[in-house]
Amino acid sequence: MESIQIHNLTKRYHGKATPALNHISLNIQSGMFGLLGKNGAGKSTLIRILTTLDEPTSGTIQMGGIPIKNKRQIRSQIGYLPQNFGFYPSMTVIDAMTYLAILAKVPTWQRTTRINKLLAAVNLIDKSHAKIKSLSGGMRQRLGIAQALVNDPRVLIVDEPTAGLDPEERIRFRNLLTDFAKNRIVILSTHIVSDIEATTNAVGVLEQGRLLFTGSTEQLIEAATGHTFEINLPFNELNHFKTAHRLTEQISQGSTVKIRFLSDRPISTAHVVSPTLEEAYLFLQMQHEEG
Ligand code: ADP
Repeated sequence: MESIQIHNLTKRYHGKATPALNHISLNIQSGMFGLLGKNGAGKSTLIRILTTLDEPTSGTIQMGGIPIKNKRQIRSQIGYLPQNFGFYPSMTVIDAMTYLAILAKVPTWQRTTRINKLLAAVNLIDKSHAKIKSLSGGMRQRLGIAQALVNDPRVLIVDEPTAGLDPEERIRFRNLLTDFAKNRIVILSTHIVSDIEATTNAVGVLEQGRLLFTGSTEQLIEAATGHTFEINLPFNELNHFKTAHRLTEQISQGSTVKIRFLSDRPISTAHVVSPTLEEAYLFLQMQHEEG
C-alpha cells in the first residue's frame, strides 16, 4: 500500500446543519499517521468511511489506487481495531482467533501458521489457551491487534487505543504499532496528544469537521515556536494573568508560581520556551478559535 488519497471529502448526516466532515483532502503514506481531534471533531466518521462501514456525501478516496467504492477489495486490505474492543469472553485466545480467521476467509492451510505468528508478534503465545475474560486490558488490546491483522491487511486502523491501559501497557502497545507501521499504513485516531507523540511520522488535526493541519509533528511544533512562554509571577497576579492568556502549565514555588502559556503576540517580560506537542496542538486550536 503506497498511500491513501482523500480528496475533497464531505459527510453530512441527515438533519444536521454542519457537516461532520467538511471538504477534507489528505494524503496518508506508509508509517504511523495520528488522527487527532476533540470529541465530535469527525474522527469516527472518517474511520467509518475508510473502513467502508459508511459512505461519504461527496469526495473520493483511493487506497493504493483502489477507489473506496470497491468495498470488497478495500475490506480485504483493512484491519480495524475498534474502540472498546471486546469479544467472546468465554472463548480461549486460540479459538477466538481461529473463528475470526475463518470469518476472514484465511485459507485453511495457512490458518495455524498465521495465527501463531500473530500471537507471537503480540506476545500472547503463552496465553493461547487462556480465556479472553482472564486477560488484562493491555493483553486484550494486543489481542485486538492480532485479530485486526488476521487478514494480513495493508492498512491498520486503530480507534482511541490506549483508553484503560496503564502506562507500561501503553508503551508496549505503542511499540507494537510502530513495528507494524514499518511496512504498512497505521492510522491511530485519538483525542490524547501523548498517544501520538514520539512514534508518529505524520499527523492530521480535525476540528468540527475541518482539517486544521496536516504534516509532521515537527512542523506542528514549529508553528507554535516563538508563541510559547514561561514566566514567574507572584501568586496574587495569577488570576488576572489567566484572564488574558492561555495557560498550559502551572507549578507553585512558595509565594510565586511558574507558568507556561501561549500567546500569538510577543511578550517581552516572559521567556520564550520550546513548545511541547501538546502546546503546539493547543496553539493551533487557539488560532482557529480566534481566526
Ligand atoms: P469524533 O469521533 O471525533 O468524536 P464523530 O465523527 O463521532 O467525531 O462526530 C462528528 C460529528 O458528527 C458530531 O457532531 C456528531 O454529533 C455527528 N455524528 C456522528 N455520527 C452521527 C450519526 N450517525 N448521525 C448524526 N450525526 C452524527
